[in-house]
Amino acid sequence: MLSITHLSKTYPGGVRALDGVTLDIGTGIFGLLGPNGAGKSTLMRTIAALQEPDQGSILWDGTDIVRYPHLVRQVLGYLPQDFGVYPKISAERLLDHMAVLKGLRDKKERRRQVDELLERTNLAWCRRQAVAQFSGGMRQRFGIAQALLGDPRLIIVDEPTAGLDPEERNRFHNLLGEIGENITIVLSTHIVEDVRRLCGKAAVMAGGKVLLEGRPDHLVEQL
Ligand code: ADP
Ligand code: ADP
Repeated sequence: MLSITHLSKTYPGGVRALDGVTLDIGTGIFGLLGPNGAGKSTLMRTIAALQEPDQGSILWDGTDIVRYPHLVRQVLGYLPQDFGVYPKISAERLLDHMAVLKGLRDKKERRRQVDELLERTNLAWCRRQAVAQFSGGMRQRFGIAQALLGDPRLIIVDEPTAGLDPEERNRFHNLLGEIGENITIVLSTHIVEDVRRLCGKAAVMAGGKVLLEGRPDHLVEQL
């Protein structure tokens, strides 16, 4: 359970990217809708403890992420809008390397997770290819594989389907649907249809504020 209370953030220069955001997020896929500049990425990075808010708290199972970011990084996977891509390293080596960065020291255990995640994201067939040569859909699936290293109970997915064709989007959605059966996923997007299809609950943001919150069908009627 993720409980966000009165979260605010003003960037140097005066943009109020978050303005008193309060949200309760349970298991399953939570959708965060809003136009460009609404504050979605700022909120996502703040939940991922990659950035500090000026005010407010984010409780994950009772622990304040804002005060104890290192505790949260252990339960969290983050798929940023565009994650860095290394030109020459194969997918399996890159994933193994990312597992090391996540603190997975045991080589056998890393191997087990890398194998399992490449299978789960349907990338086992191209594990020896460089991620830089992957299609957009394959890259996003690789992003999910790296986010799932270490068995997190919460994953943050920021605008994942921008630039994907309909078939790639479909596959990506099916994968998220499978994952979201067991853990919490916070998904940001500006595509209303994605939220309607995938999310059990959603919120609409604009100008750093939550305008609406509830079941997707209900929200869409009010947009
Ligand atoms: P969204 O993801 O909904 O597009 P963002 O969180 O990226 O929204 O941005 C919210 C507002 O904060 C925008 O006006 C954006 O220009 C501004 N902003 C985002 N990041 C920074 C930054 N690092 N420094 C200054 N302003 C920023
Ligand atoms: P995307 O999600 O980006 O559409 P795909 O998994 O469809 O990614 O793969 C992109 C390319 O790789 C396509 O041309 C597809 O035909 C090919 N491809 C997909 N699966 C396999 C496979 N198991 N073996 C060989 N090529 C494959």
